[in-house]
Amino acid sequence: MVEDLSIGRITRLELRVVALPLRSPFATSTGVRARRDVLVVRVDGDDGTGWGECAAFADPGYTAETIGSAWNAISDLLGPPLARSGTLGELTKAWSAVPGERMAKAALETAVLDLLGRRLDRPLWALLGGQPRRMAAGVAIGVQSSTGALLEAVGDALDEGYSQVKLKVQPGWDVIPVSAVRERFPQLPLWVDANGAYRAADLPVLRRLDDLGLSMLEQPLPADDLAGLARLQSELRVAICLDESVASPADLERAAGAGAGRVLNLKPGRVGGVLAARALAAQARNLGWDVFVGGTLESSLGRTACLHLQTVPEVSLPGDLSAPSRYLARDLAARELQLDDRGCLPLPEGPGVGVEVHEEALAALTQRVEVGWQPKNALR
Ligand code: MG
Repeated sequence: MVEDLSIGRITRLELRVVALPLRSPFATSTGVRARRDVLVVRVDGDDGTGWGECAAFADPGYTAETIGSAWNAISDLLGPPLARSGTLGELTKAWSAVPGERMAKAALETAVLDLLGRRLDRPLWALLGGQPRRMAAGVAIGVQSSTGALLEAVGDALDEGYSQVKLKVQPGWDVIPVSAVRERFPQLPLWVDANGAYRAADLPVLRRLDDLGLSMLEQPLPADDLAGLARLQSELRVAICLDESVASPADLERAAGAGAGRVLNLKPGRVGGVLAARALAAQARNLGWDVFVGGTLESSLGRTACLHLQTVPEVSLPGDLSAPSRYLARDLAARELQLDDRGCLPLPEGPGVGVEVHEEALAALTQRVEVGWQPKNALR
């Protein structure tokens, strides 16, 4: 069991906020951002280094966590137990005393797993009990300036080699653009994600989307409206996929008990790390749900961790993980993830997460850095 592995002596923990320029601006809760800031975690042991990337954004919105909150959580609460935990299981048990902070936990856990994998010369997928297999990559396409621009964006993605597309929808940007995509690409595996933007009164619009042959309707209603989601699932043919609604095993139990969906979008950051994600995937499959792995505009470092998670047998559907070069103008990885000629993102060779960080890019793009913890100032 990976939880029984000794984490060894951790000698240093470094936190860094890195500003990655975006290819096109991204709307957040506080405005439009031209860059994707990411929190990067580095742990050093006696015998090597491990890296993790935090899924949190600079602004709250997708969840309540932010880069700032994750920074403080790792520095003050999650880092210090590294000094007194013998195994990964002991470490995550110590973290269970800290409510929430799932993206922070996921980032630090990934860095520790990367370090362990490198030490043991085993890739992360092997530590997770996965098996590499061909899984088609997908793209998520945001709200565009016009239906014409959307058709062009979908066409470009297909030309690049992607074979399935998820469209972001919201009130006022739904039936007309999605119908146009369906008409132009009748056979395309297509689904839509509303990030909770609709309300029960929007049922007529959602019914029209239901007629467009979508594979899923992702998070149509707010995260906590399980009764509304359950009503929708009973009214519509399309499978409802939950994203923001499920951060824990208890959330999934409640959602499944209510009949609020049939598919889980599994993001390791949202659920507290790849180990928690693996367990949640197993729980979802036992409940009869399908599972795919989704992303949060990560660099190749974070996205590769998602690809390792995608190898576990409980992941039953291909997801919406594209190459980060679709949205990032610069990456943290020395070798960026690239789509292969079969439309898949291949896992890198090598132990741990398998990503070599581009040290020059890291230095050039760093906004803030701190050695958050060393043995001399760790809690004893
Ligand atoms: Mg989503």
